[in-house]
Amino acid sequence: MTALSPVCKFCGISRQYFVVSIIKSHRRYRSTQLKQDIKPDWKPVIGLEVHAQIKAEGKLFSGASSKYGGPANTQVAFLDSALPGTLPVLNRRCVEAGVLTALALQCRINKVSRFDRKHYFYADLPAGYQITQQNHALANDGVFRYLQYGKHEDDCVEKSARILQLQLEQDSGKSLHDDIEGRSLIDLNRAGCALMEIVTAPDFNTGDEARSFVRDLRMLLVTLGTCDGKFSEGSMRVDANISVHRPGEPLGTRSEVKNINSIYSLKKAIDYEIRRQIEILESGEDVINETRSYDKDTGKTLAMRDKESKQDYRFMPEPNLPPLHLYSSSDAKSGSQSVVTIDNIEKQLPALPSEIRERLMNKYGLNMYRANLIVNEELVDVYEQLVTTRDVKKFTTFLIHEFLSLVLERDLTVSDCGVAPQCIGELYDWYLNEDLSHLNVQKIMRGLLDGDGSDPKYLADTWNLWQINDVEYLTSVCRQIIEENPSQVAKVKRGKPRAINKLMGQARKMTNDQGNPVKINKIFKKLILD
Ligand code: ADP
Ligand code: MG
Repeated sequence: MTALSPVCKFCGISRQYFVVSIIKSHRRYRSTQLKQDIKPDWKPVIGLEVHAQIKAEGKLFSGASSKYGGPANTQVAFLDSALPGTLPVLNRRCVEAGVLTALALQCRINKVSRFDRKHYFYADLPAGYQITQQNHALANDGVFRYLQYGKHEDDCVEKSARILQLQLEQDSGKSLHDDIEGRSLIDLNRAGCALMEIVTAPDFNTGDEARSFVRDLRMLLVTLGTCDGKFSEGSMRVDANISVHRPGEPLGTRSEVKNINSIYSLKKAIDYEIRRQIEILESGEDVINETRSYDKDTGKTLAMRDKESKQDYRFMPEPNLPPLHLYSSSDAKSGSQSVVTIDNIEKQLPALPSEIRERLMNKYGLNMYRANLIVNEELVDVYEQLVTTRDVKKFTTFLIHEFLSLVLERDLTVSDCGVAPQCIGELYDWYLNEDLSHLNVQKIMRGLLDGDGSDPKYLADTWNLWQINDVEYLTSVCRQIIEENPSQVAKVKRGKPRAINKLMGQARKMTNDQGNPVKINKIFKKLILD
């Protein structure tokens, strides 16, 4: 079997050293890696507030649908539009999802939590207040372990961040700005949808750590089924609090970059903000406590409003909702249908991503990086189905480099990429049996992903990609090329190893990329050098 292409075609880094295709575009990753170096006399600190929309039929306090993408204002209960006289009814499913998530984050669940009204004026907040548990959260004091990938696969390390709290709260509606007509329109479909806000301690020091945390947290929520994790649909949004200080001194003044809507932007926004703050401090000025937004087109953060004067939200208990009580099975009330019992929820915890990762590592000898990648990209079922009859190491490498990296390059996911698992297995087997060259495996994989067909055999047939292994035929091709290229042949004889590549290129052309390159190379060497 020929080795997999040893060098990445985009950045020329040896495959061994390169984790990058996986994290999307190679060039993009390298450039951000290079810019990341922060002067050692400054220490950046980052804390995150992750808003995750709870996957539920209804909204937090109404029965209107929380499904994404409906026509504007078609999923709005009277309560969501704040009609007088309407009353909130707490959605049990949202409480259960919050408890399940908090348990997976090893939080302490509060047996009593409360809902407050947090007042502010905003066009897409018709009630004039948001109902939130900000000051009396559902759960506190958890911890979440995540992996940070490195330059090499073996540099992958486990880190942890403390979870300060997990609270339930309402989402607001959406303002749509129509620049042409010069007006703003309000869509209340999202108003009142249930959010879990997960607040971390300021435990990150780089944008890459924050990004890694959110990537693994997202997978946890998806595995629990408590959030669909779709950044593109706004189901997850992150606020990043960022400050820098000199080591040994107290934390600096922070800015808060709001509503970051992709994991990649999160890293970029944080790295930009760190550089901006260091520049300000080095020029002798002060960082101001302000809210900023991230513009992904320019890669910069922009001031939105300052927080120097503390805004008064006039928090007050929501008078229409009693405190939320949760129970343990030992409590007298736990038998009642109307209560949520913590240990019953605990029994519903599925295998967590970190546990699945461990299992893959133990069962197949995968390194932590590869195991995490397979878990995070939702490849576990496909992987386990296919690996059983195949060489683990070779197959894993094939799956990651010849399939997954192409899927991610196209911004697709394994489940929506349209390639059936058995196709990956077939391509691997054909490659291993030398029925297909590496190049043509890639061609077919691209074809499958780009919608040229769904059957690899059909593509190999119609595109004439099957590998020619007939040594007699290949020898005759090589002989002809040698005759026609005496000067290249002389160079090869003089010991210039690269000259053979030109001859190989000719053979590729003559065999329409179907000649087995390893065999052709051997034949050339034999005919010229022996
Ligand atoms: P606020 O009430 O302004 O939202 P919180 O105390 O609730 O402030 O903290 C919000 C987030 O800010 C948390 O994630 C926390 O870790 C983070 N944070 C607090 N202080 C700092 C700081 N100096 N630098 C960076 N992040 C910070
Ligand atoms: Mg906050």
